[in-house]
Amino acid sequence: MAQVDAFAAVSRRSVVLGVAGLCALVAWPRVDEALHPGGPGRETDSPALRHDVDPRGITRVSTTRRWVALTFDDGPDPRWTPDVLDVLHAYGCRATFFAVGSNVEAHPDLARRIVAEGHRLSNHTHDHLWLDRVDAATVTDQLTRGREAVAAYDRQGGQLARPPRGWTSRTVARCTSDLGLRSVFWTACLESSLHDGPVAAGEEVGARLRAGDIVLAHDGGRVVGPNPQDIDRSRTLAALPTMLESLRRRRLVGVPVQDLVAGGTPR
Ligand SMILES: [Zn+2]
Repeated sequence: MAQVDAFAAVSRRSVVLGVAGLCALVAWPRVDEALHPGGPGRETDSPALRHDVDPRGITRVSTTRRWVALTFDDGPDPRWTPDVLDVLHAYGCRATFFAVGSNVEAHPDLARRIVAEGHRLSNHTHDHLWLDRVDAATVTDQLTRGREAVAAYDRQGGQLARPPRGWTSRTVARCTSDLGLRSVFWTACLESSLHDGPVAAGEEVGARLRAGDIVLAHDGGRVVGPNPQDIDRSRTLAALPTMLESLRRRRLVGVPVQDLVAGGTPR
């Protein structure tokens, strides 16, 4: 209830701000209050908040198939992506890689391998900019160039886009829609459960996933540009076999999010 109450309070505050036309007075970089109730830099977003600003965004899919969408963000990265691909192959699973355009351009062999092994490449912008903090023209440029980087290997893959960190806004949602793209968020995040170690995380997330869910993990650690990062993904890699083993025991199959969407009703 506390979360619902907080959401209602934030929504009311956003409406008041919007009606009063005070948004322009908020210091740059403007942070979408509706999505960052805890302040900038905190990943407090929830599916309800995202749905409020981007109703076309996909968080899960209603389906009769025993499918779960596996998604990996921020790659390709030569330190982690090859091992992630090996684990997926070992478990007979396929996935969607929401790749950063600049990383695709830096590692064309990995982009080629991802597609050759039956996975999909999708759009995670060109430079991993936090889209809710830049203007509409920059959002459009990032999504367009991200789609182009991916299209060289997966022609239609970039039609699905994931804003970095899932941080979105009404402006991001409008730009995404105007380009004919659709945002994909997630139901569960593997890295959010790593606090008790990789094996516990794999078990916990694997046990929690239901048919139609979308799981977020990361095959990319390094991103250059305005929001640089260099993250060790070894614990993600260690958690992955446990999660896939758990899914296998429950007769759930990992598929690209494109397959899940095509075989069900996105929510
Ligand atoms: Zn990302």
